[in-house]
Amino acid sequence: MTISEQLFAQAQQHIPGGVNSPVRAFKGVGGDPIFIDKADGAYLFDVDGKKYIDYVGSWGPMILGHNHAEIRQAVHEAVDKGLSYGAPTQAEITMAELVKKIVPSMEKVRMVNSGTEATMTAIRLARGYTGRNKLLKFEGCYHGHADSLLVKAGSGALTLGVPNSPGVPADFAKHTLTAQFNDLDSVRALFSECGDDIACIIVEPVAGNMNCIPPNEGFLEGLRQICDESGSVLIFDEVMTGFRVSLSGAQGYYNITPDLTTLGKVIGGGMPVGAFGGKAEIMNHIAPDGPVYQAGTLSGNPIAMAAGIKALTLLADNAEAVYSNITAQAEQLVKGFKAAADSAGIALTTNQVGGMFGFFFTDAEQVTSYQQATECNIERFQKFYHLMLDQGVYLAPSAFEAGFTSTAHTQADIEATIKAAEIAFRQL
Ligand code: PMP
Repeated sequence: MTISEQLFAQAQQHIPGGVNSPVRAFKGVGGDPIFIDKADGAYLFDVDGKKYIDYVGSWGPMILGHNHAEIRQAVHEAVDKGLSYGAPTQAEITMAELVKKIVPSMEKVRMVNSGTEATMTAIRLARGYTGRNKLLKFEGCYHGHADSLLVKAGSGALTLGVPNSPGVPADFAKHTLTAQFNDLDSVRALFSECGDDIACIIVEPVAGNMNCIPPNEGFLEGLRQICDESGSVLIFDEVMTGFRVSLSGAQGYYNITPDLTTLGKVIGGGMPVGAFGGKAEIMNHIAPDGPVYQAGTLSGNPIAMAAGIKALTLLADNAEAVYSNITAQAEQLVKGFKAAADSAGIALTTNQVGGMFGFFFTDAEQVTSYQQATECNIERFQKFYHLMLDQGVYLAPSAFEAGFTSTAHTQADIEATIKAAEIAFRQL
């Protein structure tokens, strides 16, 4: 028995499913999760001493690689001054200024502790601002685990087969409308039915929770136009895409300005942080300026701010090098996977935007919809996953998650990963 296996058996006695977040449980690929001892740069080291090239990056935030020396140093310095004050600090202003500079549509910004809090509050704010009840989301998009967002949700909810979670009263869920990603007609149909009561559209501008699906040309523009015409608030959930597909996220990459933006994990450089922000006119409705209530004892925590400020400063100061690097890595990786699959006679297609990528076991030329993503050969993905893991490559343990590169990945890492994929495809 490995140490990981022993720990997992022990963990299951105390923690539901042995994990503190279901996406870690390997339910999407079978087998037991690997327990991690430490991480450095592009690598994870498990408790049995095995090293992995990591393409999960703590589910997105490790754009500069794990355990970055300057971020670690910033955290150490903050820790020496105290862990939490529950009163304002200058670091919160620095963080807000940084975010505004990088993502100009965020005229005002509030820090929270997770992506879930960010999206939950952005929706409450959109409802409070418009005086409307309904929200429109897309099937297969995941926006955290707030009640009204666990309707046809992606990520772990999709992997576990519970896109509509029990525990969400039908009275709540009835206000959540779901349309099809990359299908503006499905959005227009809902707006023509009840547009007067739709407070907001929330979308992952590049879907990353049903594998990786970029927006078709015109899709995000269409959402912007529909919101403008109907008075609904357009929310870009950039928890995954923020500082990832480009420095200014998907809104910078595609040049579309949402009304509100939600950010998550990346903004804390790995610490538990999230944020929401947008037009000042809308943000002014949040307490204490306005009546829409939102609060957080540990929000803007000084340790998390220190990590986040350092991470965002490093990304902004080195943006050209960072984004051309992680984009080139992801491009090379998906091209390498595709060529290796072709030569092994395995049907595969890939998607990639900036440092975010996905691959699908399917005959389809291109995957652009939720429907296509769910029709892929999941069994083949599961086998491939374990063949890669055995060779020391750590991919997201589900066919419904995107992968991420980092500036810490070397050319040798990418080549070794492609080599491992060649072997894995041949064995499928
Ligand atoms: N929105 C998106 C797009 C996400 O990918 C996630 C989590 N992966 C969330 C929201 C929720 O963030 P958290 O897990 O920090 O609550």
